[in-house]
Amino acid sequence: MENLHKRILEEGQALSENVLKVDSFLNHQVDADLMYEMGTYFKNYFENHKVTKIFTIESSGIAPTVMTAMQMKLPMVTLKKQGSKILSGDVYQTTVHSYTKDMNYELTLSKKYISKEDNILIIDDFLANGEAALGAARLVEEAGAKVAGIGIVIEKSFQPGPKMLKDKGYDVYSLARIAKLGKGSIEFVK
Ligand code: 5GP
Repeated sequence: MENLHKRILEEGQALSENVLKVDSFLNHQVDADLMYEMGTYFKNYFENHKVTKIFTIESSGIAPTVMTAMQMKLPMVTLKKQGSKILSGDVYQTTVHSYTKDMNYELTLSKKYISKEDNILIIDDFLANGEAALGAARLVEEAGAKVAGIGIVIEKSFQPGPKMLKDKGYDVYSLARIAKLGKGSIEFVK
């Protein structure tokens, strides 16, 4: 997605060889036009995947996912990050390790918002080790539903997540794929 590449190059800050900061259009301030265009790309890729619902993970996945749900005319669900386990039968929960915060959280989905017949598209802002996306997929599969695919805004292709998810058979589609990060330099996959 050309406009996303351009914004990453102009405004992205490589904080280290592993972490990219894009606070000016995605993770803090949000550029709604850019989010809308992301929605168009996800729709074009996933429109024949028989998706019934779109899931994302709070909070930075929400903006691109709303725009995708709107254009695909599908319901959307935000998976919550709870600090501790909820001891009731009303929710599905799974433990996920946060890449950026280096701590665990309980990814949580109410049983009300998924059924066995669902075919879920999962969308997130970044893909690094794949823990967040895999946690979301675990919740979907625990409910007896299927994962239609995984849509990612920025994939760090040099980290283990992309290969791990593809090896597990998931259809991963990323709008930007980064090959290398260095102090002041960002290289895309060619
Ligand atoms: P994973 O679970 O794939 O290891 O990491 C994905 C999650 O960590 C994303 O939901 C995102 O919030 C966060 N994350 C991973 N890498 C980055 C990064 O380079 N920059 C930012 N801003 N967030 C990241």
